[in-house]
Amino acid sequence: MLWIILSILRSIPLVGSFFSENDQSLYPVVQRLLKKTRKIAIIGYGVGGASTAYFLRELLGSSVELHVFGDGEVGGRAKVVELAGKKYEAGAVICNKKSLYMGALTKKFGLKKAMVPDDKFAIFDGIHFVFQSTASTLVTTLTLLWRYGFGIFKMLSYMHKQWRNFTGIYDMQRKGETFTDPAVMTKAMAMGNDSFYHLTQISADEHFLKELGWGSKMVNELVSGICRNIYSQNISDITAMVGAVSIAGAEAENLYTIVGGNFQVPMKALETSAVEVHNARVTKVSRVVTPDKTSPSFVLNYTEDEVVGQSEYWDAVIVACPLETSDIEFVGFDTDNWSSIKKLKFHRTVANLVHGKLNPKFFGAGEHKALPQVILTTQMKNPPVDFQTIHVQYPVSLNAQEAATIDTAQVYRVASSEPLTEDQLNLIFSEYTDHTVVDWTNAYPEYNVPENLGSFVLSDGVYYVNCIEHISSAMEMSCIGAKNVSLLATDYLHKQDQ
Ligand SMILES: Cc1cc2nc3c(=O)[nH]c(=O)nc-3n(C[C@H](O)[C@H](O)[C@H](O)COP(=O)(O)OP(=O)(O)OC[C@H]3O[C@@H](n4cnc5c(N)ncnc54)[C@H](O)[C@@H]3O)c2cc1C
Repeated sequence: MLWIILSILRSIPLVGSFFSENDQSLYPVVQRLLKKTRKIAIIGYGVGGASTAYFLRELLGSSVELHVFGDGEVGGRAKVVELAGKKYEAGAVICNKKSLYMGALTKKFGLKKAMVPDDKFAIFDGIHFVFQSTASTLVTTLTLLWRYGFGIFKMLSYMHKQWRNFTGIYDMQRKGETFTDPAVMTKAMAMGNDSFYHLTQISADEHFLKELGWGSKMVNELVSGICRNIYSQNISDITAMVGAVSIAGAEAENLYTIVGGNFQVPMKALETSAVEVHNARVTKVSRVVTPDKTSPSFVLNYTEDEVVGQSEYWDAVIVACPLETSDIEFVGFDTDNWSSIKKLKFHRTVANLVHGKLNPKFFGAGEHKALPQVILTTQMKNPPVDFQTIHVQYPVSLNAQEAATIDTAQVYRVASSEPLTEDQLNLIFSEYTDHTVVDWTNAYPEYNVPENLGSFVLSDGVYYVNCIEHISSAMEMSCIGAKNVSLLATDYLHKQDQ
């Protein structure tokens, strides 16, 4: 009602001049009141889409109507499954204390952290363990030094340096800085120095072996094992950035999971952001110019409960799912500079969750030998079973104390390129009772060297969170992408208001 009265008043010449644009005190207020609420559509309700909703609500308050379209369960790749009466993470597991957004959202939503226990680990080369940690930190450090030399210290100092570069993003985003593409973002993170961006353009093995001169044993065993554990890909195939993120994420004392499941972060972000959620798969985004506007508007086509629908007009659209896998058609856009992204591949990884006992013989260990909780692998030649990593998976119901005191865990997660067959499970496990498989056909980008990083800006008014996965894929990266596109969309809408 108020805006109708104000519109009428403005249309009367004398009164209208009272609200002239020269009147610095009154005009902006009135102008804001006259403006109709802006409408933004977000496609995807994983961590990226849901945190975008949260950041947009924070930035734009009630001046914006937010709608989120998502396919399947809220959480996307943050997903729990049930096995033997308990729930386990089947996708994203680990958060890092240095990742500020995930930490802040976890706290804000009253969720509890379970610190990851300092599990023992070993590196398996397909025949036997080439390295095993022990319960004593001192003995483990000495064994690491014995096998890999002082390269271990270089690796630690490298990890701290890359964290320093990485965390620079938080200050910039706090000040409202925006980035049109991940290349500009990585350059800014290293204070304008190209060294951080360079990591996206060179392979991990070349960077660690040739550029940094790390020993080949350490790179091919320890570094390779860590990278295969995090991204299921070999160090010759991933960028140095993905390698650096993997190494930086290996500091056990900083790692945690969220009690009850990581999916609760996106779920709570949607709940607290006053959004309208549509369980619908978006098939098309069209750019249209409505008769009453000079700036573009957007229309979405979607399927909801097998019914095809077309949305009303949106002032801005946020794409928070990978273009490579989401099958969205874009109509009325100049797609030349970003259509190449759609052709990139995503990597498949299978989470085999197995309730059973590992078979020490398979790992070349004595029959009664206690096996470590984490088994990393080198790039194995003709392995009897091809897998990238095995680790104990704790139920999501465990709190920090319980996780730290647990000594015999029975559920293992085996990451492999294909679902493991019964015969393969019988080789790795001496016995098992239950098992379930989550086949992530599109887990994370299949990294290329040099990497095509894409752009956060698909067009004026259409922004893309998931190009950030080409720097590296992780829940925190999705939050950083979400913050960036929220700032970009806010700038865009403010400019339109001027
Ligand atoms: C096996 C595995 C292990 C991982 N481990 C970790 C880890 O330990 N720590 C970590 O930080 N990260 C990990 N990751 C990566 C992490 O899961 C992702 O980077 C992050 O969850 C991506 O979130 P997102 O919201 O950007 O994308 P997604 O979670 O994929 O969400 C995208 C959403 O968009 C929806 N969608 C897609 N297409 C459409 C459409 N056309 N219309 C409407 N909706 C659509 C999807 O259904 C989904 O809900 C792991 C990933 C996998 C697969």
